[in-house]
Amino acid sequence: MELLEKTAKEQHEALVNKEISAEELTKASIEKIEKLDKTLGAFNSVTFDKALETAKKVDEKIAKGEEIPYLAGIPCALKDNMNMKDTKTTCSSKILENFVSPYDATVAVKLKENLVPILGKANLDEFAMGSSNENSAFNIVRNPYNLNKVPGGSSGGSAASVSSCEVTLSLGSDTGGSIRLPASFCGITGFKPTYGRVSRYGLVAFASSLDQIGPFGRSIEDVAHLYEAIAGYDEKDSTSLKMEVGNISSNLDKDIKGLKIGIIKELMAEGIEDDVKSAVENAAKTYEKLGCTVEEISLPLLKHSIGVYYIVATAEASSNLARFDGVKYGYRAQNCENLLDMYCKTRSQGFGSEVKRRIMLGTYALSSGYYDAYYKKAQQLRRLIANDYNEALKKVDILICPTCPTTAFDLNSRADNPLAMYLTDIATIFANLTGAPALSMPVGFDKGGMPIGLQITAGTLNELTLLQSAYALEKVLGVNNQRPDMCAVK
Ligand code: GLN
Repeated sequence: MELLEKTAKEQHEALVNKEISAEELTKASIEKIEKLDKTLGAFNSVTFDKALETAKKVDEKIAKGEEIPYLAGIPCALKDNMNMKDTKTTCSSKILENFVSPYDATVAVKLKENLVPILGKANLDEFAMGSSNENSAFNIVRNPYNLNKVPGGSSGGSAASVSSCEVTLSLGSDTGGSIRLPASFCGITGFKPTYGRVSRYGLVAFASSLDQIGPFGRSIEDVAHLYEAIAGYDEKDSTSLKMEVGNISSNLDKDIKGLKIGIIKELMAEGIEDDVKSAVENAAKTYEKLGCTVEEISLPLLKHSIGVYYIVATAEASSNLARFDGVKYGYRAQNCENLLDMYCKTRSQGFGSEVKRRIMLGTYALSSGYYDAYYKKAQQLRRLIANDYNEALKKVDILICPTCPTTAFDLNSRADNPLAMYLTDIATIFANLTGAPALSMPVGFDKGGMPIGLQITAGTLNELTLLQSAYALEKVLGVNNQRPDMCAVK
């Protein structure tokens, strides 16, 4: 296996043992992106010079015999809705096409402090709204395992860039599943931490009570390290948690004998593809072999989560996206008669159809007369869904289910049917509504060779148990060691 195909851990060891320099590793990643990305479409823009500067700093430290951070020199991508000073943040939208950020998001600051070379900004569904990455105003992203299939969304570029071995790590954002779904479709691990664990300062807001930044990687260990690097209190984000993150990466290898696991009944019923179901059942059996108990757990209110989400998320989006008015940032329509005309034309021309649909839905749900019927009801139901979830976690330590009822679907097969697209998120949304940590890891392949993801969720703030149980399963299954053929393209 080539070094680029390896995990961050293995690359770190190669750097420390001087088998390769950080500059060489970054250059290899640049070559790979140049080779693959015209086909793949994972990047909106690249920042190779900056990445090489960072790599050189890592090499200087190594030459001086200094210790380097675990992630130093490891090629990484940032979803293009996170700001990085003096580079474009487009959110894959025409309205921000030429917007250059004057500041760094907190996660970008933290990556820089860890000397992580950032190779570029990864493609996404416009403003992170979508499940297939087909809503980007610029380019679709293709699935590295099958170029005719979607990579999942909205963090499709972040997932495809890691899966295809263009980079080793990346960051995504997850409002209703946008880290976990693409991780599942692309055969890698994606992790949404507890709401508030990672600062969102500098992340372009979609739905503020749901948004969370999290890592993508090729192993649980890599993901745990990247999570630790970006997590922690930040006074610049008022929803940031003032709590210790704790040391997770060095406590992953724990005997999980006796762990109580719940398998979510409603997500193993009708509509789940056979291969997906078998892979989840196989994961459950593996846990039993490891000495865990597995029982069926019912979450009867889960079926309402999509309805609740599409009211809460669109309502918050309609308010958050009001700032894109042609005055403060980005695109401004020309030949306008007056201010109102300028607002209308800018927003009509600048936003794509899915974003407009959400702004209209959200504005409607918040308008007087409808607020009580829709928004208030949705918030009440959100509370009940969270109660249901917390009740279940009194009986078990973690919950498992498929990340998605299906594996990656064909490009263009759902793009014209928003409702079918929304249903893709049936298994992921509850973790955003409750704020709980949730992860997707590869546990098998379907008959067509497409990856299958298992979702593991735990109680709020219980990242440690979640990652320990994922680590134990990964060690036995080893599915994370598979790479798509694309990785080997020279
Ligand atoms: N697919 C969901 C949506 O379209 C989730 C998006 C996300 O998590 N950013 O809203």
